[in-house]
Amino acid sequence: MAEAKNAPLIGKDALGREVRDLSKVPWWGVDRKEIEWYPTIDYDKCVTCGICFVTCGRRVFDFDKKEGKVIVARPYNCMVACQTCMNLCPTGAISFPDASYIKKLVAQNKIVKKAFEIIKPLLAEDHLSPKETETKPEP
Ligand code: SF4
Ligand code: SF4
Repeated sequence: MAEAKNAPLIGKDALGREVRDLSKVPWWGVDRKEIEWYPTIDYDKCVTCGICFVTCGRRVFDFDKKEGKVIVARPYNCMVACQTCMNLCPTGAISFPDASYIKKLVAQNKIVKKAFEIIKPLLAEDHLSPKETETKPEP
């Protein structure tokens, strides 16, 4: 499985921090660019505090010096299902798709089952059966 730390370096951000192209790293085998999960900034609410830009370790955000604003520069670098920046934003300017989008993705790609297979050697024999880890997409 490709790892984030091995993703190609593509330059530096406005703060001089290294940027990797994490869109090349599949998510549970799914091409990252096929997953529409990334933040959207509502500029009517954004006060350019910078916390999203400074804290996101995946360099999804950057700073547009010309416009004087934080931008979503690398949307597919975003970690699928993460919402940290939305939770940190002081003005509620960041939004994401509905959580049902992620739940559907998890079910369609049998991700709970895959995760369970990984931790299975650590569990007692009478823990969940593989059947209990199967999830079906919501209608
Ligand atoms: S959700 Fe997480 S990974 Fe995605 S942009 Fe926000 S802080 Fe970064
Ligand atoms: S955290 Fe919110 S208010 Fe601050 S720069 Fe980001 S979007 Fe704007």
